[in-house]
Amino acid sequence: EIGAIADSHGINVYLIGGIVRDFLLNRLNEDIDLVVEGDGISFAHTIREQLGGQIKTHEQFATATWTTPTNIKLDIVTCRTEYYDAPAALPTVRASNIREDLRRRDFSINALALQINKSDFGKLLDFFQGQEDMDNKEIRILHNLSFIEDPTRIVRAIRFALRFDYTLAKQTEELALNASYLLKQVSATRFLREIQLLINEETIIRGVKLLDSLHVWQSLFNLKPTIESLMKLEQVIAYHFNDAFIVILTLNYGQHNWKQKVKRYSLTTKQNQLIQQLEAMQTVPLSKNETMSSIHNRYHMFKEDTILLYTILTENTLLRNYVEKREQLKPLLTGQDLLMQGIKPGPIFSDILHQLTCFQLDNEIINRNDALTWLQ
Ligand code: ATP
Repeated sequence: EIGAIADSHGINVYLIGGIVRDFLLNRLNEDIDLVVEGDGISFAHTIREQLGGQIKTHEQFATATWTTPTNIKLDIVTCRTEYYDAPAALPTVRASNIREDLRRRDFSINALALQINKSDFGKLLDFFQGQEDMDNKEIRILHNLSFIEDPTRIVRAIRFALRFDYTLAKQTEELALNASYLLKQVSATRFLREIQLLINEETIIRGVKLLDSLHVWQSLFNLKPTIESLMKLEQVIAYHFNDAFIVILTLNYGQHNWKQKVKRYSLTTKQNQLIQQLEAMQTVPLSKNETMSSIHNRYHMFKEDTILLYTILTENTLLRNYVEKREQLKPLLTGQDLLMQGIKPGPIFSDILHQLTCFQLDNEIINRNDALTWLQ
């Protein structure tokens, strides 16, 4: 129906991006992106008038989201060209035709369009040998300056290569290697977003190694991931620290000046606090035969997941035992129990409960009855 409407207005409309690639690869993709040679927003209005549903427009991007009467969402965008005024800068945009729109894209496999006009339904536009690259299982950029214009494409290339089990085309790999130093100029937000996508695909360890082969870590942090740091990273992920910033932190932790290096990537207050807490823990002394309660006296103010992260980074098993035990501990008494004993609310409450936790950690009190007896 959309194709027929487009025909009657003399407008070309295409399916574009991931959905075309995944259709050819026989993979599921529910992100429907339509691109229009002409005014995307007014085309979206026409569709809504004729087929119903709702539209939401984003004027500054010349795009609209159409929610069909059956509640499917489609993005309708205007063909556009992008100019990069400087390496690694954000592009300037202007309206254009389908070929130009495909040319601004990252890789040949993502630069395919499928026409949906009724008159040309199903016509595949493949100006950049996308299908050939699919057959050869290769990720290929569309022109030599691609990584220079947008160095985050280096991380994207690795992500798609790992997802589809492809390799980077030879020249693409060389150009990525030559441009990786430019990642320094990319904002922390954009870099972390791409790293996050690698984590979401569960390919972060292999991703880190491949990024290393393109000298990304060398250029950004002057480091080469060691087997030990990759093993730590594996644990960090296994414990569900699924946050791109923590990946950066793990790779850098313990390196000379690690704090300064990761500072630029700590975007939130929480991330800054994490750095401070890790630093603070470094200064808390700990000897081999300490009891759990004595550790608790010095670590009770740190959050459990922060301690856990610290124990992974420092391979401290004593502290690991402590935090695992502390995590499993169930409170045996409540404030209500204290009130029943005639204890007046105040700082004494937390002192008593802290003391009880210490006994529990040392296995001196293990059930509620013992706790009540102790309280009396
Ligand atoms: P996914 O299956 O992960 O959603 P996708 O191909 O849909 O993959 P998106 O990140 O949603 O990826 O981007 C949509 C399209 O926009 C891509 O297919 C690609 O053509 C283009 N694109 C996205 N980011 C860039 C970029 N940094 N440079 C060039 N083109 C890009």
